Amino acid sequence: MTDLPDDAARWDPRWTGELVVDLDAIAANTAAIAARVAPAAVMAVVKADAYGHGLLPAARAALAGGATWLGVAQLGEALALRAGGVQERVLAWLWAPGQDLDAAVAAGVDLSASSAGGVGELAAAARRAGTRARVHLEVDTGMARGGATAEDWPGVVRSALDARAEGHLELVAAWSHLACADVPGDPSVERQRLALARAVEVAEGLGARFALRHLANSAAVLTDPATHLDLVRPGIVLYGLSPGTAVGTSAQLGLRPAMALRTRLALVKDVEAGQGVSYGHTYTTPTATRLGLVPLGYADGVPRAASGAGPVAVAGGRTTVAGRVCMDQFVVDLGGLPGADRAQPGDLVELFGDGALGGPTADDWAHAAGTIGYEVVARVSGRLPRRYTGTAGVPPDPDQPEQPDQPEQQHDHHDEQEDRR
Ligand SMILES: *Cc1c(COP(=O)(O)O)cnc(C)c1O
Repeated sequence: MTDLPDDAARWDPRWTGELVVDLDAIAANTAAIAARVAPAAVMAVVKADAYGHGLLPAARAALAGGATWLGVAQLGEALALRAGGVQERVLAWLWAPGQDLDAAVAAGVDLSASSAGGVGELAAAARRAGTRARVHLEVDTGMARGGATAEDWPGVVRSALDARAEGHLELVAAWSHLACADVPGDPSVERQRLALARAVEVAEGLGARFALRHLANSAAVLTDPATHLDLVRPGIVLYGLSPGTAVGTSAQLGLRPAMALRTRLALVKDVEAGQGVSYGHTYTTPTATRLGLVPLGYADGVPRAASGAGPVAVAGGRTTVAGRVCMDQFVVDLGGLPGADRAQPGDLVELFGDGALGGPTADDWAHAAGTIGYEVVARVSGRLPRRYTGTAGVPPDPDQPEQPDQPEQQHDHHDEQEDRR
């Protein structure tokens, strides 16, 4: 028997489905990570709209939970944090030659560079802005994604030292990213850690001094304290999902999934045995049964690859998608579920949530779709409105006097959500 959160009264009739994001869960997960890595500091990774959770509310919740840095991939994401009033340190690590760096440098955003050319562009932007660019030099320690190779590294460091001498650059950090930290004990993790240490030595030999070194993503935070260094960069664990099945489930790791995806049955109907269901008739009813129509599809971010497999909590139990996921909808076979006889249009359906009541999680959907939880939450589409619960990081509402008699406060931010993407 699977219970669903009873928030029918809170359902906004404008929407077909909704994403509910628990800000207190993000803060609690961040606090647990901060305690685990101390004295290393926490850079909360909020790229990709905070993995689909909403950039500003999630960033503020992570800061409330004890993060002191924010990390994003793109310049626009960093500028959106500044525009939202975030004053804390923000690192953006991905930009391409020719991109406009001026606004980010002027806004005091920390930027990464992997090449002498990149350092030069940052220095030029700093010169135009009349400031120093805050730079994190990225070393490729073995992932072969971003970062300078060992061969290029001394040249990158020299160009940074030159720009520093000219007053255009502040050397903040040396950093790298791990390829296989989600496989506990994988020997590449130690190799990469030692390669970063060696790169720092080389740079120091050339006269560089870094205030910080950072390396660890979520998986390394959980599995390898030697990688924590001065600052860690967790993302997925802050949202309560597991960085990999070999590391453990979110429940085993003591994490609280922050995102729930819910909707309501749009239609309920009885059909005969042998009825093919949805495109391609890939599911056929084994007996006479009752079907429920779920009004969410791959355009909402429900993975089509989870056709026939994605788990759903409905009618007092758990079932899976019957047949293919369509663009806007899919079907479930309610037959055999405890509440099938009483099922009716409007009944609550949860695709994933925190799993606390036995319902499915985003990681369960990832398993069903042959992907990772990261992709399930990050791909949830802008067509779905977000509703926030919890109070962590929520700025006080100047129009709303404190109401100490209401311990269980819920905050809606549909205004924030409507301009979100
Ligand atoms: C996405 C990303 C992270 C966070 O990874 P998680 O596995 O979500 O913790 C950290 N650092 C960099 C460079 C990233 O791209």
